Amino acid sequence: MKAAVLYQTTQPLVIEDIEIDAPKANEVKVKIAVAGVCRSDLHFMKGEAIIPVPAVLGHEGSAIVMEVGEGVTNVAPGDHVILSFAPYCGHCESCLNGHSNACDNHQRTGGKQFDGTSRIHINGQDLAQMGKLGCFGEEAIVPATGVSKIDPGMSLRAAALIGCSVTTGVGTAIYAAEVTPGSTVCVIGVGGVGLNVVQGARIAGATRIIAVDINDAALEFAGKFGATDSVNANSGDPLKAIKDLTNGKGVDYAFEAFGSSETITLAFDAARKHGTAVIAGIAPVGEQAGIDGVALVRQEKTLKGAYYGSSKPSIDFYHMIDLYKSGKLDVDGLVTRSYTLDQVNEAYDELDRGVVGRGVIDYGVQG
Ligand SMILES: [Zn+2]
Ligand SMILES: [Zn+2]
Repeated sequence: MKAAVLYQTTQPLVIEDIEIDAPKANEVKVKIAVAGVCRSDLHFMKGEAIIPVPAVLGHEGSAIVMEVGEGVTNVAPGDHVILSFAPYCGHCESCLNGHSNACDNHQRTGGKQFDGTSRIHINGQDLAQMGKLGCFGEEAIVPATGVSKIDPGMSLRAAALIGCSVTTGVGTAIYAAEVTPGSTVCVIGVGGVGLNVVQGARIAGATRIIAVDINDAALEFAGKFGATDSVNANSGDPLKAIKDLTNGKGVDYAFEAFGSSETITLAFDAARKHGTAVIAGIAPVGEQAGIDGVALVRQEKTLKGAYYGSSKPSIDFYHMIDLYKSGKLDVDGLVTRSYTLDQVNEAYDELDRGVVGRGVIDYGVQG
């Protein structure tokens, strides 16, 4: 099967013919339908996050089940599924404490399957699968806990986005921050995840939602998803602009959805007294953010991180689907462009250049 292979950071992905095994026990073989062009993959391509190479990236996807391994009962061949990049073992400390999004055994085994071995290979060499998925390949072997069955009538594009950016963004607002009705919010970075934090805050009833970015087109796009105000961080001091919009106080909930030390500090500073700053963006490995220690204590601020929107993907994907079907959550409007797998490098160039909205790699698979 064809896949885009990352051999070396800062080099383009290479489309190759690779070998794929049969699924082992508790694994599922899928045909990828749609893969989202998400910034987390770009962090790996640029070397800002670490994955062993060679690797197949792509962690936001929908698929159709081809074959199931021994013991798999949640899906059968032909089922349409949303893929989760946080499959879980179900018996580690994190899983047992209700944090399947941060399963210890998944984090330990990373881009290999739970038994520590790989299912995809090229010329006898093992490849890593980002999030045990690898959606930039036509097929994948994934853990059974990483697939959630959906109605065959559900849009496979919308399903793919629910696999990462939608659940991460909306979840950050409603599960991690628990935004309350009538509250004030700022969202720093309104790319794929940030737009969904905006939507999550809107769904939760926030009345003032300030989008912060350095891209005017992105700020304008955020208005379609519920941002009430916008701040271009390149034209003046963004902290002052946020405070000016909130009677000098700052916001009840400040969200960071970009991933840098500077924007983490801005989110912390933008949160008002007794406010909460939630960090959803992943900063480059090793980067440290400065936090005002006096404000943290005297203003009793809360600072927290949210991975995968602090969601439980196997349950919360269905909450996202219900919000989407009820018309409260706009997923279709997020997608602005579609590519073939051969165009994957072009897709990432456009993301890096700040082209607005989500790109998807559509494999043209019919259910
Ligand atoms: Zn993602
Ligand atoms: Zn676990």
